[in-house]
Amino acid sequence: MTIIDGKQTAADIKSEIAREVEERVAAGKRRPHLAAILVGHDGGSETYVANKVKACEECGFKSTLIRFESTDEAPLDPKELMDTIAKLNEDEDVDGFIVQLPLPKHIDEQAVIEAVRPEKDVDGFHPVNVGKQSIGLPCFHSATPAGIVELLKRYEIPTRGKKVVIVGRSNIVGKPLAAMLMQKGYPGDATVTVCHSATENLAEVCREADILVAALGRPGFITADMVKDGATVIDVGTTRVPDATRKSGFRLRGDVDYENAAPKCSFITPVPGGVGPMTICSLMQNTLQAAKSKD
Ligand code: NAP
Repeated sequence: MTIIDGKQTAADIKSEIAREVEERVAAGKRRPHLAAILVGHDGGSETYVANKVKACEECGFKSTLIRFESTDEAPLDPKELMDTIAKLNEDEDVDGFIVQLPLPKHIDEQAVIEAVRPEKDVDGFHPVNVGKQSIGLPCFHSATPAGIVELLKRYEIPTRGKKVVIVGRSNIVGKPLAAMLMQKGYPGDATVTVCHSATENLAEVCREADILVAALGRPGFITADMVKDGATVIDVGTTRVPDATRKSGFRLRGDVDYENAAPKCSFITPVPGGVGPMTICSLMQNTLQAAKSKD
């Protein structure tokens, strides 16, 4: 059994990006510039955005963080957010930007996603990028699925003709990952099944998977008996569970019962240190791609 080291792979990719950025700068080209908008003080979002800013530093990118306060008593006026998005769309110095999700309930998330110009949508959430991805055209790929595909590639895990089962059909993980793995070529050419809360005989479907992807947000849901011997298991789940031994008071837990499932697998991603660090790498790759498209 091989543990897929997402942390190390992400560090390798960031070094590769940093080298490319320094070569660009030495050749007189601009540093890539990523902007991030953060609304309110959601604990998870604060951490994700801080990690994205740190990754920009590691890659030699310029980064800008734009913060908006929003509370139940004083909710942010959505127009203020939309005006800032319009400005970033026009700002020649910004190659790409993200609006950290989730947004407070009173803001229409889909309207925000669609307000970002597709050429600057380095999260790959805009319907234009989603559509291009689904028909196999060059585009910004959604960050988490792109990170998973990169792990499969770097660990040389075969996908051609393999049965992939994805548990979870979200717009940011399950659906775009299914689209990527069913494309012609490598990593792709897989036979993909996407499961959700209405799937019947879920355990049986999972047991058929050569590559099983768990993206439901239910800690330990995928038990060892749902995993075929020799399968590759990709655990996307990251749920905060209470842990009194940690300073933060919580730890991250995946959707797979790792301890019992791992001995059956040929490859498995741990949580943390598997898919998570790769997601930010994909964002960095997309931002570099955005900067290069303007050369
Ligand atoms: P989501 O929007 O919360 O959707 C969950 C999906 O799981 C839905 O499609 C749901 O089915 C399905 N589901 C829930 N319970 C199920 C059950 N008992 N049986 C079968 N399917 C079930 O998902 P998400 O945003 O993709 O997030 C999933 C997990 O991945 C979360 O833990 C999240 O924190 C994590 N995540 C991690 C990263 C990373 O970088 N590591 C990135 C994104 C997400 P229905 O559609 O029928 O409701």
